[in-house]
Amino acid sequence: MAVANPVRRVAIIGAGPSGLAAGKYLLAEKCFDKIEVFEQRSSVGGVWNHTPSSSNTKGATTVPQTNPHEPVEKPIWINQTEATFVSPLYDHLETNIPKELMRFSENPFPSDVQLFPKHQTVKQYLEEYAEDVKHLIQFERQVVDVKLKDPDLSTWDLTTKDLHTGAEITHIYDAVVVASGHYTVPYLPHIPGIEAWDASYPGVISHSKFYDSSEIFRGKKVVVVGNSASGLDIGSQINEVSKGNLLVSQRSESYLAASAPEDKIICPEIVEFLPATSHDRGIRFADNHIEEQVDAIVFCTGYFYSYPFLSSLRPPVVTHGLRTMNVYQQMFYIDHPTLVFPVLTQRVIPFPMAENQAAVFSRVWSGRLSLPPYTDMRAWEESELATKGDEKAFHLLQFPLDADYLNFLYDWAAKAAPRSELASNGNGKHGVYWGEHERWMRALFPSIRRAFVQKGDQRHSVKNIGELGFNFEEWKREQQQRR
Ligand SMILES: Cc1cc2nc3c(=O)[nH]c(=O)nc-3n(C[C@H](O)[C@H](O)[C@H](O)COP(=O)(O)OP(=O)(O)OC[C@H]3O[C@@H](n4cnc5c(N)ncnc54)[C@H](O)[C@@H]3O)c2cc1C
Repeated sequence: MAVANPVRRVAIIGAGPSGLAAGKYLLAEKCFDKIEVFEQRSSVGGVWNHTPSSSNTKGATTVPQTNPHEPVEKPIWINQTEATFVSPLYDHLETNIPKELMRFSENPFPSDVQLFPKHQTVKQYLEEYAEDVKHLIQFERQVVDVKLKDPDLSTWDLTTKDLHTGAEITHIYDAVVVASGHYTVPYLPHIPGIEAWDASYPGVISHSKFYDSSEIFRGKKVVVVGNSASGLDIGSQINEVSKGNLLVSQRSESYLAASAPEDKIICPEIVEFLPATSHDRGIRFADNHIEEQVDAIVFCTGYFYSYPFLSSLRPPVVTHGLRTMNVYQQMFYIDHPTLVFPVLTQRVIPFPMAENQAAVFSRVWSGRLSLPPYTDMRAWEESELATKGDEKAFHLLQFPLDADYLNFLYDWAAKAAPRSELASNGNGKHGVYWGEHERWMRALFPSIRRAFVQKGDQRHSVKNIGELGFNFEEWKREQQQRR
């Protein structure tokens, strides 16, 4: 199935890593009359724009927070001139992916940068990556509404708001890339008693989105809920300053957990927040253990998929918010594939994923690739639902699924009909193909990260995985000998 209408005008929502990659691949097709990127922030990089707590921009969440249908975010003004939005990145964040895997295909990180770069390095890297698409971006312009304009042509009315003046403009686009990210609307579960507890002890419960530094937890009894990448990292930071050992409430063991036992106290789920009339800041865990005089609870319980500007879309892309609905191959909106959602996938390496998805949708929109018929796309989603279910797992592509999907996208893009004026002998801008080396590194990266962290302060001088004793050639030789 080809898209209904020749695509000439494309809008991209967001100038984070995915929006930037989309801009590059669309430009490389050399056939679109208009490519416009709308970014509500004042600079590129998405979540890699850290908002320090010192800037007084870190907010708070409602407790509980179970609504994926939050309105578009309101800007926080710095010096009344610069629009900013809370980023979930924190002060001492270092990437959880080695730079050799995390990178965009044509842009290695500098060789003198530490193996798991600091967030400031990534921001700088993205600024440089953005150089050749910056002219497409309109900053401090928020997308407030996207409506299907003509169902037969699959065109879109997209309304943007100038955050300085409040003036709104609507333009028609033939295609829209929704690269608005999925770390905006926090999920903080409802647990019996939580609302009354929060009212009795305001500010004690928070969400990782608003965490910036461990300092405010110094000398406090703290519980961290969840053991995803953020939960583990934030937990380790707080554990260094908290009163006694950190309590970690988790449902299951994390795939990223340290191999050696850490000095955190592992507890099951919190099942009840106990009334202030009978307990002093008390919570009860699933094993009936009660902990009292808790000073702080940080929920690292993730985020909803949320697109407030698409609320009129039918069928909807968000209902319960645990996944994005009605998408083919994790990105094309099935009813109108002129709408795409890059990097919905989780447990993946986002930058190369953004490139390979952009390589595919830009070729579909330029007419060099076609999509299967509507019924086949529906059948794809049905079959995924049958195996993965209708919640978060729908977008989970844990290794080796992510590697297979990445290469599947690469092969798909490679099937595009060549056009003489395009790069690479008319084939256009390539994405990333993961060979044996990348797969080896991907499989090992939790161990590589642990080895890096165990270096303590010396980790800052580790620049490549070889320095940590991981050697691909050696591993290959061993494999061959075993065979
Ligand atoms: C704590 C944390 C740690 C992470 N660590 C790593 C890591 O180590 N390595 C890694 O590769 N990834 C990491 N990630 C994942 C990270 O999200 C990706 O690296 C990447 O930022 C995804 O890019 P994106 O462009 O899809 O989304 P984002 O980075 O979220 O960018 C989306 C952009 O869209 C803009 N936007 C949203 N709504 C609108 C609107 N209505 N109008 C206009 N603009 C809008 C936003 O302002 C933002 O700039 C981490 C994420 C978190 C939360």
